[in-house]
Amino acid sequence: MKRHFALGAFLFLCFAFPSRGEGYDAARHRMVEEVLSDANATSSYSGRAAFSPGVIAAMEKVERHRFVPAALSLVAYLNRPLPIGYGQTISQPFIVALMTDLMKVKAGDKVLEIGTGSGYQAAVLAEMAGSVYSIEIIEPLGKEAGERLQSLGYRNVQTRVGDGYYGWPEAVPFDAIMVTAAASHVPPPLIKQLKPGGRMVIPLGTQFMTQYLMLVEKQMDGTLTTRQILPVRFVPLTGGH
Ligand code: SAH
Repeated sequence: MKRHFALGAFLFLCFAFPSRGEGYDAARHRMVEEVLSDANATSSYSGRAAFSPGVIAAMEKVERHRFVPAALSLVAYLNRPLPIGYGQTISQPFIVALMTDLMKVKAGDKVLEIGTGSGYQAAVLAEMAGSVYSIEIIEPLGKEAGERLQSLGYRNVQTRVGDGYYGWPEAVPFDAIMVTAAASHVPPPLIKQLKPGGRMVIPLGTQFMTQYLMLVEKQMDGTLTTRQILPVRFVPLTGGH
């Protein structure tokens, strides 16, 4: 019995964490496979049984272990949210892939992200978009993420510390906007900064009640259509609004 437990624990460690021999690349590939199997399992809610090749390629490429605290790098490729300090989290890889897929980012698009956090989601977006603007309200997190993205060579990402509720007026309009913290409502300044035909992905709800990931589309005539995608759990959108 004990032996079986030891063998089970050994196998779990071998498969869950990158070993020296295997390395991060294989662990990341396995994470992407898990993300795709989650997509399949949730397709009746989300309407997405698979993700676009661009999203999959970005998830295969971006090194999540460089965006988590060093002490967590060995578990960086678990399909889980992880703490990044200041009470904030880097989102679960499946949610990152789903939100990115819903944005339908095309080469050359200008994209806004609210909630830079670790910078991981911004990097995934930067693999697909022409330019990414990302705003973080917690100064040390925003500064660290900006430096990290620069040192990893993401020249098409600009970061700023501030309240993302008000968007980035100097860079309007955006083809797509992603909010990675839960809001009680869709911020009107962000609707205004979205191009007609543009898409916004945002979790709506309060911290202690069910939140839903929503897809908001701005039609060419400026009217909005919204679709509820999945129940989710995000840290709250803070700030002065
Ligand atoms: N996208 C991040 C994870 C986001 S966690 C990543 O890939 O790591 C949500 C982030 O939103 C937190 O860092 C939080 O500080 C930030 N946030 C909360 N309210 C905000 C606001 N009003 N403006 C900008 N950022 C905000």
